[in-house]
Amino acid sequence: MSSRPSILESARVGPVTEPAAYQLSAMDTGALCELARERRDRAWGKTLTYSPKVFLPITNLCRNRCDYCSFRRSPGDPGEWTMSPVEVRDWLHRARDRGCVEALFCLGDTPETGFRDYRALLRSWGHQQTVDYLRWAAEEALAAGLLPHTNAGILSRKDMIALKPVNVSLGLMLENVSERLCEKGMPHHRAPDKRPAKRIEMTRQAGELRIPFTSGILVGIGETLEERVDTILAIRRLHRAYGHIGEVIVQNFRSHPETPMGHSREPSADGLAATVALTRLILDDEVSVQAPPNLNPASTATLIHAGINDFGGISPVSPDYINPQHPWPYLERLREACAAEGFRLEPRLPVYPQHLEAHGFVDSSLRPSIDRLQMELATP
Ligand code: SF4
Repeated sequence: MSSRPSILESARVGPVTEPAAYQLSAMDTGALCELARERRDRAWGKTLTYSPKVFLPITNLCRNRCDYCSFRRSPGDPGEWTMSPVEVRDWLHRARDRGCVEALFCLGDTPETGFRDYRALLRSWGHQQTVDYLRWAAEEALAAGLLPHTNAGILSRKDMIALKPVNVSLGLMLENVSERLCEKGMPHHRAPDKRPAKRIEMTRQAGELRIPFTSGILVGIGETLEERVDTILAIRRLHRAYGHIGEVIVQNFRSHPETPMGHSREPSADGLAATVALTRLILDDEVSVQAPPNLNPASTATLIHAGINDFGGISPVSPDYINPQHPWPYLERLREACAAEGFRLEPRLPVYPQHLEAHGFVDSSLRPSIDRLQMELATP
C-alpha cells in the first residue's frame, strides 16, 4: 500500500505540486470547495474583507478591442470620456467624505499610442503622457487622504518606477495565459496588449521592482480548464519568484449585449466556485483570493463556501464602470450575507500586511497616510 498522501490530502495541508494542480482540477466541485474553505479558514480566519474605494475611470479610450468589453471607446464614439483634473479632484473629495480609503485609477490600455486628440488633451493639462497624469492624480488622492491603487493596463518598467512612490499597489489582470485566446475568432484577437507574454513580463517586472501587485484570472471567455490551471500556476510562479502578489481576483465573464460576445454563455455558479476553490488550493496561503460580489449577486454564499477571503473594492460613491449594469451591493446586505455564513465583514487597506511589514515594498513617504487610514479602519 502506498504511503504517499492523496492529492486531496496534500491540498488540505498546503499548495499542491504543479502536476497535482491539473489532477485536482478534474475533481468534484464539492470536494474542492470543502478543502478550499478549510485552507481559507486556517490562513484568514472568520473575517472576510473589502476595500472601500472610489473607482476613477480616467479614460475609456483604449487601443484594444476585447470581444467581451463594453467599457472601451474610440474618439468620437458616444460615451467616450476622459476625466478632467477638476472631475478627478471632485470625485476624490466626495469619496473621502463618504469614508472611502482606496482611490482606484482604472483605464484602457496605452491610449496615447492610438489617439492624437487624447494626447493633445493631456498636453493642455500639462502632461505629456498618461503616466504623468496618473502620477498627478495619485498625488491628489494622497492629498485628499486616500490611498491610490492604479490599474492602467500595460505599463513599462519606467512607468511603474514613476508610479510606485505614489501608489500603495498596482494591478494587472493576467486574465489567461492561453495564446489560443489571441487567435482569429477568439476574444483577444484584436487586443495586442492581451498577449500573455506581455502581461507576464509586466507582472514580473513589478516583482523585480518590489511593487505590491494585484493579478487575476478571467473565467468563461472560451478557455479550457487546463488553461485556467496554467494561469493560476503562472501567477504562483511569479509570486514565488518575487513575493509581490497581494491578491488574485477570480472574475467571471458577464455578457454585455452590445459586444461581440453579447450572446456567449456566462460561466455557471458551479464553474466559478470550482475555479475559486482551485485558486485557493493552488496559491500560497498568504495570497488573498477575491471574487467581485456585484457580478455574482445571487452567489455570495457560494463564493464564501468556495474559499474566497475578500470581495475586492466596493464603492459607496461610484458605479462599476466596467460592468455598469451590475451595481455593487449595499454593504449592509453583504454584511448580513457574511454573518449568515458565520463571517464578519471588515474594511481593509488596498495593500496587504505582508507588504507593509516587508522591506522595500511600500515607499516610506506613503507610511503616514497608511498609518492614518489603518487607525481609522481600526476605530469602530
Ligand atoms: S478589456 Fe481592457 S484592454 Fe480590453 S478593450 Fe476593454 S478596456 Fe481595452
